[in-house]
Amino acid sequence: MQARAIAILGATGSIGTTTLEVARAHPSRLRVAGLAARSRWRELVAPAAEFRVGVVALADPAAAAEARASGAFAPGTRILAGPEGLTEVACLPEVSTVVSAVVGTAGLAPTLAALKTKKDVALASKELLVLAGKFVTEAARAAGARLLPVDSEHNAIHQLLRDKPRTDIARLVLTASGGAFRDTPLADLRHVTLAQALKHPNWNMGPKVTIDSATMANKGLEVIEARWLFDMPADRIDVVVHPQSVIHSLVTLADGSLQALLSPPSMAYPIQDCLLFPERLPCPAPRLDLAQAITLGMTPPDPARYPCLGLARAAADAGGTAPAVFNAANEVAVEAFTAGRLPFTGIAELVARALAAVPAREPATLDEVLAADAETRTAASRLALGLSR
Ligand code: MG
Repeated sequence: MQARAIAILGATGSIGTTTLEVARAHPSRLRVAGLAARSRWRELVAPAAEFRVGVVALADPAAAAEARASGAFAPGTRILAGPEGLTEVACLPEVSTVVSAVVGTAGLAPTLAALKTKKDVALASKELLVLAGKFVTEAARAAGARLLPVDSEHNAIHQLLRDKPRTDIARLVLTASGGAFRDTPLADLRHVTLAQALKHPNWNMGPKVTIDSATMANKGLEVIEARWLFDMPADRIDVVVHPQSVIHSLVTLADGSLQALLSPPSMAYPIQDCLLFPERLPCPAPRLDLAQAITLGMTPPDPARYPCLGLARAAADAGGTAPAVFNAANEVAVEAFTAGRLPFTGIAELVARALAAVPAREPATLDEVLAADAETRTAASRLALGLSR
């Protein structure tokens, strides 16, 4: 079997480095052909050498210039600069699967370009579907390319749906850990600190998604993500708090029974599934130890503790640019909380105010979505001043 060539957009982040671990474990199956990052070129030197990567791209042109001048990369390594460089890596002719894990909207253009050239895309950046679900899924459908979900919940659902006719599926159930403040008294939430918010009970992830996990804005984004990935209306997508993060999601079948996918909380599992599907090989991550007692709890999410979940559902119902408004307002709010300018409970308050202030429209083009994103950031920054600590 010929090794599948992959390109990793966002190679220095947590998804990118775990993708490299998976590639390291399966050298006969996976070949890393391209690596891209925003600016941290020094972190690309070792993997570029280890995997003999021919092309490296840096979205920040100054970083690309530094990388070229450094002489740290093997002679013959092409170092591309700017957003076009990311798109070029995503469209390399030999690449069949692109891992899209760039934070924020910078991943949008290269991901769309990859889909249009019929690459399978292992999608880790849920923002792309939240903002541009209509455009991304249309591009995939038109080209006959596959969108493979890296997000652990969606990957679990993708695995559970594979062998079933659509008529068998009644509902989707996303599990949520409940985040850092699952058991914090509600009255104390206003005064929790950034350091406390960054202590996720199960997953080791970037700071933004860890805070989003504590507010459940992350699960709200994931409801919208699932809506696009599985063409399922948001009111048929349930959320359940499952503190152990072992059940990665469930599907409710037409007869009322449920099926679940279980594995330890390691992103290596869903990433490997995306890259090796339909083949199953041992994953380079710990196994569930059934010789130990395993308790699996499930409770409904408390709307008072997680107002961002209801706000995301409202944005999903409103449709159009409303999910983009939710996402942008949440990013501004998390930034303000991180900088100490907003209390933790101010995140949901700011998102609610931004959703009320920025009207939703049905976007005809991607530019209209990006305009709504920019408009929301300006509005939310202004609204944040009124909510300051
Ligand atoms: Mg997730």
